[in-house]
Amino acid sequence: MKKSILPLTLSLIIGLAAAAPSFAAGGNSGQNQSIQMPTLSAQDGHELTYMREEEKLARDVYLTLSDYWYTRSGNLPVVTVMQNIAQAEQRHMDQVEAKLEKYGLPDPVVDENQLGGFVNPELAALYNELLTRGQKSPLDALLVGGLIEEVDIQDLKESIEQTKLADLDRMYESLMCGSRNHLRAFASQVAATQGSYVAQVLPQAEVNAIITSSHERCGGR
Ligand code: MN
Ligand code: MN
Repeated sequence: MKKSILPLTLSLIIGLAAAAPSFAAGGNSGQNQSIQMPTLSAQDGHELTYMREEEKLARDVYLTLSDYWYTRSGNLPVVTVMQNIAQAEQRHMDQVEAKLEKYGLPDPVVDENQLGGFVNPELAALYNELLTRGQKSPLDALLVGGLIEEVDIQDLKESIEQTKLADLDRMYESLMCGSRNHLRAFASQVAATQGSYVAQVLPQAEVNAIITSSHERCGGR
């Protein structure tokens, strides 16, 4: 799930700066002309757009798999956990949508209610792959949840490293905090029957540090 990074062209940077004079003007009204609010880079825009759909991927997989297992086996732990986490993913989607709106970027999500609908073809393919895997058994569904959260943490770390905008940084940190809690929830359910949770994407030591620490309260945006 590697992100392809749009090339940052100078003309685009200049174009964005010119198109958004309000960012540069800020509240300084003339004084400190040299201090400018940072503008949204093309890469920031690309990552925000991607993140909107990545949060949707999580929500859609959890809604679909919880429904699938509830229909077959009733209120299994995976059903309850995924139903709860899907609500958090909806809030994450809303937070990213608000940033897209703030920066005047188009929303890649055409219809929020269409489960499995993605503009990004990689995410569309991944959605199908994860569903197939998660329908094999309740344990596989829990592992799919863990995988999604590990990938989210990895992608969010890259976005945090890349962005120079404090508000995006704060939002990504908050989303990542949520992902750590979700990973804790999935990993503890896996460990309940398997004895332990084996890391799927992140280094095992990093996963262990997360799942052995307690649930966090994650800030808003
Ligand atoms: Mn999330
Ligand atoms: Mn999550």
